[in-house]
Amino acid sequence: MMPAPADASVRRPEPTLTPGLRGSLESLPAIPAAVFGAGWDRAILVSLIVVTACILTWLAGGAPIFGAPGAHASLLARHSVAGIVTALAACIALRAGFDSALDHRTRRFWRITASAMTLGTVFSLIALGAGQGSDPASLISDTAGLFASLLSGVVLLLALLQLPNAPMNAVDQSKLWLDIATVAVGGMLVGWYDYTTVQAPPVASWTMTFVLLHLLTTVELILILVVAVLWRRTVLHHRANVLLVVAVALTIAFVAHGAAVVEMAWSGALPGWLHLTIPLSHAVIAAAGWVSCVTVMQRAVRTQTRHDHSPSHLIPYVAVLPGFVLLLRLAHAQGTQPLLGLVFGVVVLTVLAFARQLASTREVVRALTEAAAKQNEARFQALVQHSSDVITILDTDGTIRYVSPSMLAVLGHDPITLVNTNIGALLHPEDVEAAGQFLEELARTRDVVSGAKVAPGSRKQEWRIAHAKGGWMTVDNVGTNLLQESVIRGLVLNTRDVTEQSVIKQQYMHQAFHDALTDLANRSLFLYQVGNALARAKRQQSPVTILFLDLDNFKNVNDSLGHAAGDRLLVEAARRLASSVRDSDLLARLSGDEFAVLVENSHDQAESLEIAERIRVSLARPFLLSGKEVFVTASVGIAQTAHGETADDLVRNADVAMYVAKTRGKGQAVVFEPAMHTAALERLVVEADLRRAVEREEFFLQYQPIVELSTGDIVGAEALVRWMCRDRGAVPPAVFIPIAEETGLIVTLGRYVLRRACRQAKQWTDERGVPLRITVNLSGRQLQEPGIVDDVRDALHDSGLDPSQLVLELTESMLMQNTELSLVRLTALKTLGISVAIDDFGTGYSSLSYLQRYPVDMLKIDKTFVDDIDNGGEGPVLARAIVALGETLQMSTVAEGIETAAQRGHLLQLGCELGQGFLFAPPLDVEEFWQLLLARGSTSPMTVRRRRDMSVQAA
Ligand code: C2E
Ligand code: CA
Ligand code: CA
Repeated sequence: MMPAPADASVRRPEPTLTPGLRGSLESLPAIPAAVFGAGWDRAILVSLIVVTACILTWLAGGAPIFGAPGAHASLLARHSVAGIVTALAACIALRAGFDSALDHRTRRFWRITASAMTLGTVFSLIALGAGQGSDPASLISDTAGLFASLLSGVVLLLALLQLPNAPMNAVDQSKLWLDIATVAVGGMLVGWYDYTTVQAPPVASWTMTFVLLHLLTTVELILILVVAVLWRRTVLHHRANVLLVVAVALTIAFVAHGAAVVEMAWSGALPGWLHLTIPLSHAVIAAAGWVSCVTVMQRAVRTQTRHDHSPSHLIPYVAVLPGFVLLLRLAHAQGTQPLLGLVFGVVVLTVLAFARQLASTREVVRALTEAAAKQNEARFQALVQHSSDVITILDTDGTIRYVSPSMLAVLGHDPITLVNTNIGALLHPEDVEAAGQFLEELARTRDVVSGAKVAPGSRKQEWRIAHAKGGWMTVDNVGTNLLQESVIRGLVLNTRDVTEQSVIKQQYMHQAFHDALTDLANRSLFLYQVGNALARAKRQQSPVTILFLDLDNFKNVNDSLGHAAGDRLLVEAARRLASSVRDSDLLARLSGDEFAVLVENSHDQAESLEIAERIRVSLARPFLLSGKEVFVTASVGIAQTAHGETADDLVRNADVAMYVAKTRGKGQAVVFEPAMHTAALERLVVEADLRRAVEREEFFLQYQPIVELSTGDIVGAEALVRWMCRDRGAVPPAVFIPIAEETGLIVTLGRYVLRRACRQAKQWTDERGVPLRITVNLSGRQLQEPGIVDDVRDALHDSGLDPSQLVLELTESMLMQNTELSLVRLTALKTLGISVAIDDFGTGYSSLSYLQRYPVDMLKIDKTFVDDIDNGGEGPVLARAIVALGETLQMSTVAEGIETAAQRGHLLQLGCELGQGFLFAPPLDVEEFWQLLLARGSTSPMTVRRRRDMSVQAA
């Protein structure tokens, strides 16, 4: 009975318990260590064991410590021992009644049981008081003790009915009460027979004691019946519970009282040990109370009625038996026929009827069980047959033992022909190895045990399987190891067609990593593959090269021919690029008009330059877009791994090299050098400074005089912006203007220049009384802004300058890039009354037809032609042509960058009237310019225009 300490967690009821599963055969729950915790708890238990041991010793050997049976001292000792044992038992039962590990019903059972025991103790004490005397008195005390036992037996019955596994519904309850009644009637029948047949001795209390003893045995039989019923209602796993111990205790009492009845019938007196049977049985129950901590009953109630064939449900029938035996004995004693025959016949008939009922019950139960099993089987069969998944049972080597009919619908194969073939024959050759491994691992997969649940091990994998009509289907397999399952003994595959999902998945993957327009790899895939290539390169010690390409004039095409044409250009360019790289190279479109090529294993720089050359040649052929021939070049930056660059580093290096290529002119390929990186960084710094410069107002203007070539008189000024950076000093416009244009800062800056220049020109005009023309440079970016017209209008309005005094300079290339928009903007600007000049004329590729359409007033001959003018060769010819063109289009011409008197002379000869350059003056600060203006300022600035108008009239 000494339980072993174990984990305290066993105390708590387990939430789900499946009856009849493997778990039920596990070892019985052990006593938690906590049980040994409390000192007094242990003390009670130890005393209980000691006292019980004493009783047993005494019972076995008639130990003399209690004196001879019947002696008063003996009686006292017996009652004392009984009292102490019962009291101890009650204490332990009470303790169980307050054990929070038990559910409330079980606790209630223990509390009521404790009161039943207390009742026993109280009566023992009363009996002790009554038993002070002779033999009859001892009998009186015996009677009181028996009465107490009877009462406590009834209370115990009530207690048992409190247990969570006691019948709850009306049917079960009425069945129980009928059984109780049967046993009660059977018991009372025996009692009545005994009473009428046994000769009563002339002691007054004898009859009372005899009847009480009979009642007591009947009650104990009823208790055993109830315990048996409760035990049957407990799931197998939890049968090793308190009920077994209680049953043992009750059996002890029942046997003892039964024996006492026989003893009393023979000797007329009660046996001496009788007083101790009840305490003993209480002690055993108390021990059950002590182990009850591990006995979980609440969730262990069987949900469905199970028909097990334990002999316990025969108890009511057995109870009828004594009645029959007595009846037969009496009839035999009377010996009269036909009574004897009739009684015998009725008994046999009744027994046969019982047997018949028993047999038919078993038959019904079997039929019901079989029907349920059949229904289950049919249900599972239907499920397998109509499942859209294919269910296959395989041997561990992949031999098919069963395939569900859905195989025909899903994969087109006849399930019957597949049996005994190997599944490998159906698989895509690339998947065979993985599938073999999958089955091997599945066969090794152990059952998964989680808590009380045991699930067979399973795995998942995707394969391609041949469809009977050809082609591959992608299927998802869930494999379950049922090798241990007696009806299966194989690996079960649940196969689902996921072809569609896998196609969609692939499409999504493709979309995620490819550019929708050209279908080339996108930046993510490119960087990922560069990363892979770098990892391979590290192992193979071979460098990785990246070519970074940017189409030079793509923006023009997009702006002038529209986005659709731009897209077509990109697609065609991508096609040509793809044809000029090797198959092993990865071509990607990184963004807009940026492409990149990943080249592996090119040890030679010449090799990558060769690729760049092939790209140049492939793009050299004109692209035909919207019926027009368009020429496209690409700037290429090349970078190669040198010392442990990351994918990002490498792409950035190639980008920097490409940027340098751009600055060196169109269609160039440049190999990255670390110094370029510094230059690129420098650019970033300039950009940051530039932003601050706008806020800090570090800009100011210089003015370069525009003079009448013949006289040298100043007729106007070109405003040129200057940046005096606080940190880096004077920064030339050639450095910061392009950056300002790229970053958009030029819009703010340009607005400032415009206002400043207009105010200055107005001031000079007012102070000198002669109007002075002011020329302001506009960048392409500014012209694209719709707000430019308002800006110019505001600048004029705020300064009060006459619009005819303002000239806006736009470069030739800028005007030709976005012809339609330029025309719209120029026309709008012209309505303000200003003039427009084309800067750097001759360096771009102006189409004459456009030039004619633009409202342009002035052409500025670029310095390169002026430089060439006295060198002979083509210089003078081109300059002459420009001047002539200006005449034809009725535009005045201004020569830029005149440095020598000879140049001035030639230009005058060509008919060029105006000019600017160091020969006359460099760009000057306001004060210097003012001084020069006072000295050389023309008094009539409109002379040029007037003279030209006159010459036109004359012609
Ligand atoms: P640009 O419009 O062609 O300006 C004329 C450039 O030639 C000026 O250079 C000027 O100093 C220089 N120059 C004038 N005479 C001579 C000469 O005899 N010999 C030589 N070698 N050079 C001469 P700068 O000031 O460095 O300006 C460079 C460019 O920056 C300008 O070229 C213009 O495109 C741009 N720029 C200047 N200010 C502005 C502005 O306010 N807005 C915009 N958008 N661009 C500006
Ligand atoms: Ca200019
Ligand atoms: Ca210029």
